[in-house]
Amino acid sequence: MAKWMSVAQVKEKIEESSAEEVTARYLEVIGKSKINGYLTVSDKALEQAKKIDKEGHSGPLAGVPIAIKDNISVVGLPNSCGSKILEGYVPPFNAHVIEKLLAAGAVVLGKTNMDEFAMGSSTETSHFGPTSNPWDLERVPGGSSGGSAAVVAAGEAPFALGSDTGGSVRCPAAFCGVVGLKPTYGAVSRYGVVAYANSLEQVGPLANNVEDIAVLMDVIAGYDRRDSTSINNKTECQKSLVDDVKGLKIGVPKEFFGEGIHPDVEKAVWDAIHKYESLGATWKEVSMPNIKYSLASYYIIAMCEASSNLARFDGTRYGFRENAENWHAMVSKTRADGFGTEVKRRILLGTYALSAGYHDKYYLKALKVRTLVKQDFDKALSAVDLLMAPTMPNPAFKIGEKIEDPLTLYLSDVNTCPINLAGVPSISVPCGFTDGLPIGLQIMGKPFDEPTVLRAAYTFEQNTDHHTKRPPEVA
Ligand code: GLN
Repeated sequence: MAKWMSVAQVKEKIEESSAEEVTARYLEVIGKSKINGYLTVSDKALEQAKKIDKEGHSGPLAGVPIAIKDNISVVGLPNSCGSKILEGYVPPFNAHVIEKLLAAGAVVLGKTNMDEFAMGSSTETSHFGPTSNPWDLERVPGGSSGGSAAVVAAGEAPFALGSDTGGSVRCPAAFCGVVGLKPTYGAVSRYGVVAYANSLEQVGPLANNVEDIAVLMDVIAGYDRRDSTSINNKTECQKSLVDDVKGLKIGVPKEFFGEGIHPDVEKAVWDAIHKYESLGATWKEVSMPNIKYSLASYYIIAMCEASSNLARFDGTRYGFRENAENWHAMVSKTRADGFGTEVKRRILLGTYALSAGYHDKYYLKALKVRTLVKQDFDKALSAVDLLMAPTMPNPAFKIGEKIEDPLTLYLSDVNTCPINLAGVPSISVPCGFTDGLPIGLQIMGKPFDEPTVLRAAYTFEQNTDHHTKRPPEVA
């Protein structure tokens, strides 16, 4: 059996042999992993696959294995969020997206490594140690969904789910040379996903090709009354997979090509834009003057929401607990020992920015800036169909290189977090290499226009071969 297969190929294999055999093969590959991509490998995967064989292969994903980020609840599997504070916590319910996947017949292979509570861009803040980038084991896979991207790139799952609050699906997709989509805010239910900054995040698919992203979106997207931000506006993604961009208008926002961008990244992205031009699309430069304030606005809003969301982890209800002489001491010791440095930093900064006297100065101001950023997107996207830019300004860096310097790490999100402030859809697709490391092209669209984003990504893929390259380190 080939190590890297598309979902269509996996389905063919299942028909030829069985879901059990296909799942067993993935478990064997995972058993030899060099990347620390999984935190839990499901001991129920084979059983689930056998059941699907017995029941007959109905459902669009019957027997197809999938990897799930460890902040998405799956009954019976630990949900650590990469944190010590959730040690031993096993959710008693499935997230909405998991319900959908199981109903479609998918087999959950396991839960993947991530930055603690999805806070980070390298998967190094995980309590369980970093994941390695399959292209160079000494480098980070990106984050925070680094485990999900790395296992897909390493052939340890055909596709995976991650979550994207400020780039956490697209950043690791770019660093690991796979495809990753951040859907429109409200397109995919967040029910059962542990909240970091809920006004920004969406669950998103990661895969080796655009078609598999569309297959997964058609399963997981759609209205859910249990998520108050869920919007009833489901688009059909697979139908949009047409190899045609004639007449498509592309905007290139110059603010996304700022200082510090790697010259090879800049070149690969421009080569991609020129490729679109050769295929019949047109492009023009657009200006989005408030983009430069996105990073500051994003980090204030994300930290404020995190400080509130993470208040529930107090040793009383979930996972880890440090015993002490009274309740106050128990809570404070549990939180001091249970959370890692980055999470504590963000809780403190978020609490500070929300405190009386500072609320207007920081939080309110950040919200106003968010509106300006959203207006920049509205304006730019009223004149063009899509925006294109680099996903990450640089390729994957070395493990340990940036972790002591949080501000430098935050800066790497400069091109991804504006999209979450605006709530628009955005995909990262492989568009080249620099020194053997993958580069990602970011394609942003209008709200709920995943079809145009996917059509453009698909067309690029049909006319280039970047997505067919596999990491030698794990081949
Ligand atoms: N790197 C960003 C952060 O640390 C984004 C993380 C994410 O999307 N979950 O907040």
